[in-house]
Amino acid sequence: MAVFSLSDFADHEQVVFCSDDKSGLKAIIAVHNSNLGPALGGCRMWAYASEEDAVRDVLRLSRGMTYKSAMANLKLGGGKAVVIGNPRLDKTPQLLQALARAIDRLNGRYIAAEDSGTNVADMKLMRQITPHIAGIEDKQSDVGMRSGDPSPATAYGTFVGIRAAVKEKLGRDSLDGLRVALQGVGNVGFDLASQLHAAGAKLWVADVHPEQVDRARDELAATVVGVEEIYAQDVDVFAPCALGAVLNDKTIPQLKAPIIAGASNNQLAETRHGVDLMKRGILYAPDYVINAGGIIDIYHERIGFDRDALIHHIDGIYDNLMEIFDRARQEQRPTGEVADVIAEERFRR
Ligand code: NAD
Repeated sequence: MAVFSLSDFADHEQVVFCSDDKSGLKAIIAVHNSNLGPALGGCRMWAYASEEDAVRDVLRLSRGMTYKSAMANLKLGGGKAVVIGNPRLDKTPQLLQALARAIDRLNGRYIAAEDSGTNVADMKLMRQITPHIAGIEDKQSDVGMRSGDPSPATAYGTFVGIRAAVKEKLGRDSLDGLRVALQGVGNVGFDLASQLHAAGAKLWVADVHPEQVDRARDELAATVVGVEEIYAQDVDVFAPCALGAVLNDKTIPQLKAPIIAGASNNQLAETRHGVDLMKRGILYAPDYVINAGGIIDIYHERIGFDRDALIHHIDGIYDNLMEIFDRARQEQRPTGEVADVIAEERFRR
């Protein structure tokens, strides 16, 4: 297959194919850009249908990390690793050790963290072989002791982002009485829902797991709706916190919310859907800007954890979004496009 000519290749600095006979490791590590610092990104394990799919995924994801870190003002570049295989069947200590050795050979140009198919325990095992692993420290958060889990920081950043979007679109600072529909009340969604509830917002929630929505109903007085009905709720904010590609040809016409602000990655099915939202007068908080709390948290763990400095940094998501909203309004461009331009200005500087 062609690689350099793939649109996803997009100026990658380095792409490394790694294999290990004994453990069966087949992995690809991509370093998209390291202008601002070492390339940090998750290590994903997935039973890809083809090697081509794995290459495309790692290129797309590592590039996304460059934009996310640059936008969050982190001294980090963008990278990602993918391991080809089923994490339930193929993930062994030997395979993780072989992966750690491959990461170590890059001498810190790539720093791994957990992602789909890997977890903090895997990262701790790999950390015995290479220092170039992030997101494994046990730390105290506002919701209790969490082992390397960036979800509380992601939830807080998304809350800050919703405040910015509400200020821009509805012209108000208070969230009291704000109506929010949350798609997914898992790790991030439930924390976010708790913060919104504490700020006086009214909640509508949907999740494929009944126990998740029952908890939101019982503890946060949320109204439970079906997973297909969540898009059409008559609310102020639609907050996707479950899946990617949820803003598409089928769902956008259903939306009544004037604001979309949630934690999910890759919310727009295609770039053109950002144009659709703009034409409908819906303000979209670009996903990688509003959900940057987790990567900011991992960065602070690396530079020496200081809770106040972390909160202050995450609070910067408000100003980042305001800058994007302001430019998008002035230039009449979709917010996602403007975010990319600002990120590029930062990492190409
Ligand atoms: P999670 O798995 O804990 O929660 C996701 C929830 O969505 C689950 O409760 C799941 O049952 C529910 N869900 C799945 N399909 C659904 C559907 N069709 N409709 C409604 N609910 C559905 O994951 P998370 O860590 O809370 O992450 C949520 C989203 O935020 C993901 O898209 C993730 O990529 C993104 N994100 C997470 C972090 C983080 O720090 N955890 C950081 C950045 C982005």
